[in-house]
Amino acid sequence: MRLVLAQMKHETNTFSPVPTPLARFGHGRDLPWEGREAYEEFKGTGTALGAFIDVAERAGAEVVLPIAAQAWPSGRVAQDAYEAIAGKIVDAVAKGCDAVLLDLHGAMVTERYDDGEGELLGRIRRVAPKIPIGVAHDMHANLFPATGRCATALAGYQTYPHVDMYETGARAALPIISFLEGKAKPVLAFGHRPMLPHVMRQSSLDSPNREIQQRAKDMEKAGALCASFFVGFPHADIPHAGASAVVVSDGDADLAKRYCDELLDMAWAVREKFVYQPENLAVSIRKAKDINAKPVVLLDHYDNCASGGTMDTTAVLAAILEARLEEAAAFAICDPQAVARLREAGTGASVSLPIGGRLDMPSLGLKGKPLAVAGTVKRIVEGQYRNEGPMARGELMDMGPTAVLDTGRVEIVVVSRQVEPFDIAAFRAVGIDPAAKRYLMLKSRVHWRAGLGALAQAVIECAGAGVCPSDYSQLQFKRLRRPVYPLDDM
Ligand SMILES: [Zn+2]
Repeated sequence: MRLVLAQMKHETNTFSPVPTPLARFGHGRDLPWEGREAYEEFKGTGTALGAFIDVAERAGAEVVLPIAAQAWPSGRVAQDAYEAIAGKIVDAVAKGCDAVLLDLHGAMVTERYDDGEGELLGRIRRVAPKIPIGVAHDMHANLFPATGRCATALAGYQTYPHVDMYETGARAALPIISFLEGKAKPVLAFGHRPMLPHVMRQSSLDSPNREIQQRAKDMEKAGALCASFFVGFPHADIPHAGASAVVVSDGDADLAKRYCDELLDMAWAVREKFVYQPENLAVSIRKAKDINAKPVVLLDHYDNCASGGTMDTTAVLAAILEARLEEAAAFAICDPQAVARLREAGTGASVSLPIGGRLDMPSLGLKGKPLAVAGTVKRIVEGQYRNEGPMARGELMDMGPTAVLDTGRVEIVVVSRQVEPFDIAAFRAVGIDPAAKRYLMLKSRVHWRAGLGALAQAVIECAGAGVCPSDYSQLQFKRLRRPVYPLDDM
């Protein structure tokens, strides 16, 4: 048994000004991991690709791993980057295999294609019309019909924060192995509802998504091979952004369809609970001042780099400095030029400089606003670390050359590459103990809860600025299918 395994992951925010060349998939190098290197990088990790490797090896299969490419969310993927990644996967399949297992995000948009994953699956189907294809998707997939039609089995994360990447990989792979062994006949149903669940309301730790994901898990216990509800990724101006579901049954098309409809109906019935109203930033900061417990998380949710944020907007940090909040740490501002200046000055030096605001955000009509800060260079590090978990355990993170500037009240982490602080190792890498701080500014929305949620004594959601605004009226949708809730009355 010869299996082609591959990873092609990108969540595309079509409003983001951050470019997505091939090098962004390279973890600090110019190119994604390929072949043996990809295998060694992902074997033993808590990722879908890590699970594919384990499942394939347990089945005694020969593993072909042409490429493992993933990049932090950003703007449309450069077409040559897409062609390079998709080309490697299709070439490997064309050489002959018994099945394909793909670790795909599900919300990739390229310069030419609104549906990067559907395009890839269509190309695979053209060179290998009959082979089974198993797909693992992020819960933020924006599912297009092409994927539903081409995949043999498809499983999405059932947790947000995504702490079940490995389990999802196994859920997608096992039906394919069973099919090859003649033990199962996967039948797939998919569907949509015209709704954009708000990211700040999507966590599976909270209602209403908790109950929907639990129902999907119960369906799997009751006999479905995979049951997945996708909350979708709303910061993408493409026809199929929003909620969808996929259920795979063993030979029972009616059951797959019935379960799929049930998940979608559950979500539609509670659509009002997926709506979020942001609060004025000044009000949020005042509230934070009055809290006595520590640490208090100040969530800079308009600029989450894991939703395509530039990670360099300064509105929330400016408000923290202006309010003179003390014993604070800010993770992080992405500004490679500022890092270079801080490194040049050296540890212990007193420095005044502008940070952040390098990138304009033309899709929102916003200009980047650098923030003037002054302080002491406390630490300089190279910026690589491995996640301790529970999310993406073992995966290499690379924030590039990094510096910590201490203003006396706030330790500001300045990074060279975007990275969302969802793992305790991010703080360890810069020598900050988050539990000892009174305030933690995090550029994140939900994933921080994976590794830091247990620390937080209070959470204040801070509406700053950025290309993943929580006020959806700031987004100019032109190509999204309409009507869609809650942008339209439904
Ligand atoms: Zn996601």
